[in-house]
Amino acid sequence: QLKDIAAPERGERIEYRNGKQIVPDEPVIPYVEGDGIGLDITPAMKTVLDAAVARAYGGKKRLAWWEIFAGEKAMNKFGTAIPDDSFNALRYFRIGIKGPLTTPVGGGFRSLNVAFRQVLDLYACVRPVRWFEGVPAPLKRPQDVDMIIFRENTEDLYAGIEWEQGTPECAKVIEFLRGMGAKVRDDSGIGIKPISVTGSKRLVRMAIQYAVDHKKKSVTLVHKGNIMKFTEGAFLKWGYEVAKEEFGSVCITEKELFDIYNGVQPEGKIVVKDRIADAMFQQILLRPAEYDVLATANLNGDYISDALAASVGGLGLAPGANMNDEVAFFEATHGTAPKYAGQDKVNPGSLILSGVLMLEHLGWQEAADLVVKGMEGAIRDGIVTYDLARQREGATEVSCSKFAQAICERM
Ligand code: NAD
Repeated sequence: QLKDIAAPERGERIEYRNGKQIVPDEPVIPYVEGDGIGLDITPAMKTVLDAAVARAYGGKKRLAWWEIFAGEKAMNKFGTAIPDDSFNALRYFRIGIKGPLTTPVGGGFRSLNVAFRQVLDLYACVRPVRWFEGVPAPLKRPQDVDMIIFRENTEDLYAGIEWEQGTPECAKVIEFLRGMGAKVRDDSGIGIKPISVTGSKRLVRMAIQYAVDHKKKSVTLVHKGNIMKFTEGAFLKWGYEVAKEEFGSVCITEKELFDIYNGVQPEGKIVVKDRIADAMFQQILLRPAEYDVLATANLNGDYISDALAASVGGLGLAPGANMNDEVAFFEATHGTAPKYAGQDKVNPGSLILSGVLMLEHLGWQEAADLVVKGMEGAIRDGIVTYDLARQREGATEVSCSKFAQAICERM
């Protein structure tokens, strides 16, 4: 049901049958151009994806792009930052990709990104992190990093359940907590950390299913359960329950790996590990090759996603998606960089790699591989945008659109 925008002129919807996704040869891809540099990076991303799909399938498959609206463009056209049409389109077509959006100051939505997550219940924030040859990275062996983080997106200290210090509501909560035997200072502000069976299990289930589908060797549950037993510790416990009860035929624990298999991972098995969050931060720097899929609660996942991306050369190339079992919404992970908007200058890499994640989600691996190949080639050849060029001697600085073109030429 659309109110203000016309239905797409071509393409079909992704279907689900018996829990399996069925992708048509011409899926409708709703996209939000995005504010600020969205103007520059979204066309670049579309060009690159179209070229890869054309090359991979010779016209047999194509992406049916369909613009939907959010952010400033939506505000100007419809007087609201996210029209219902946009939510409905994503729900109906089950997929979408977006450029960055300005966080509105005052009124309406607190954050547009959060609004999409909450309204559509996109419970997992998915962030793959890898290094590209030629990108300056602080890590000694950035080539060892190839991880994907599944971060819970709806709970934890980010659920927004907070009371400001000094308010009558906060005083009431403090009084209640004292009644429950807790010691809390009078002059405290309070935030609540809910972690549920439902929220934890569906997140870990998605992470393990990804490991199964993509033949990954391990899934690591990252937690701080040694301190926060009934939230982080419970996340860990429920995570292992999912591994055992729902993926028992493929998952083994680290203990079983050594006790039963003498430390030699059997073909086709996934090792489920657990690491305390602070130790995990050391591991991503010291032994990144030993990890591939991470599953975390919301707060830890936030920190670790950015730290990991920084370790291989920064957020400029970090893709992401917010998803649930039916809807996947891919996004650039950086902001709108307003001072560069419309200058055809910035790096479209983050959004293009989010597009790669989208192609993989469609099961169009051949096209996804071509984009990666093209991007590897362009960066290796030093044909890069200003942000990468200034960090590298001998690089040729090109515009956003020229970088996209360089990728297409190297597929
Ligand atoms: P930002 O990511 O826009 O900019 C941070 C720095 O990174 C700036 O120096 C910018 O020039 C640079 N940068 C960002 N993207 C780049 C790219 N693709 N290529 C090269 N350089 C790039 O963050 P900010 O300045 O804190 O925020 C600006 C606006 O974006 C705010 O309104 C904020 O709320 C919003 N924002 C949106 C998202 C999102 O939609 N996912 C994320 C973060 C911030």
